[in-house]
Amino acid sequence: MIEDEVECEYCGDSFDKRGLGAHQVHCDDAQEEETQPDSIPSEPSDFEAKVRTRDDGQCARCESTQGLVVHDVDPDVGQERANAVTLCVACDEELSGLHPRTKRTKIGAQ
Ligand SMILES: [Zn+2]
Ligand SMILES: [Zn+2]
Repeated sequence: MIEDEVECEYCGDSFDKRGLGAHQVHCDDAQEEETQPDSIPSEPSDFEAKVRTRDDGQCARCESTQGLVVHDVDPDVGQERANAVTLCVACDEELSGLHPRTKRTKIGAQ
């Protein structure tokens, strides 16, 4: 007689009491009922949208309009419009790893 067996309330499968919690973390039926904000990763945030609009939707260095990202010039400052610049992925990669002040110079120099 298995008294500890319980049914998953989402998918109806049977588990022992200790196994149920671990199962429900991964239960497909349970996950469908949760709202998952991560499910729209390509949607730019409000902040990013504003920075892109300010920069005319193009890379601040090469004026490309493809594969744009919003780049924090100085990571210590965070999400402020004066600190953010729209870059294409190529320019973003070129600038990442450089000292913030060097980046600022490079972005300004055209
Ligand atoms: Zn389940
Ligand atoms: Zn660029």
